[in-house]
Amino acid sequence: MARQFPGNRVLVHICCGPCSITVVQGLRAEGFEVTGLFYNPNIHPASEYLRRREALVEVAARLEFPVIFLDREYDPALYLREIAFREQNRCFHCYRLRLERTLKVARRGGFARFTSTLLYSKQQKHDLIRDLGRDLAGASKTAFLYRDFRPTWKKGIELSKSFGIYRQDYCGCILSEFERRRRELKALG
Ligand code: SF4
Repeated sequence: MARQFPGNRVLVHICCGPCSITVVQGLRAEGFEVTGLFYNPNIHPASEYLRRREALVEVAARLEFPVIFLDREYDPALYLREIAFREQNRCFHCYRLRLERTLKVARRGGFARFTSTLLYSKQQKHDLIRDLGRDLAGASKTAFLYRDFRPTWKKGIELSKSFGIYRQDYCGCILSEFERRRRELKALG
């Protein structure tokens, strides 16, 4: 592991186990001390939340990093209220909800920085997440740590397959699952 430096504690919002692997590895290689935060009230249904949680437990055990699980705050109704009547722009509100909570936990925990595995995914609105993170952090003591983790996308997929962990096939919310299945549904006539 690279030599650590003052102010190196980073709280990483984690959307799922597969997305966390190369993000954690990369940040550690830079000398960061990583703690994960699993806060994803967007995930539907609850059984899916549990499967993704379990995959992250497996990754955290293999890579040996701590994770804060906000399971008591898994509240799909909160997510649905956030996006109601603004479904077209729902990802922005979904990101905001999760990053705001991450920032709060980071501030309370004395972390110097916060970031998200959402910056790893090629499926997400990368620039929107980067700008939102920076806006939320503002000039506060807890900075948003921006990295483009997407170049490790393929490596992350390979590693997650080699770990044998659950790999989801939709982003997380009920609408993203519907979009994923739309073709199958259309084929029904
Ligand atoms: S598609 Fe993904 S990022 Fe967008 S609202 Fe749904 S769960 Fe959130």
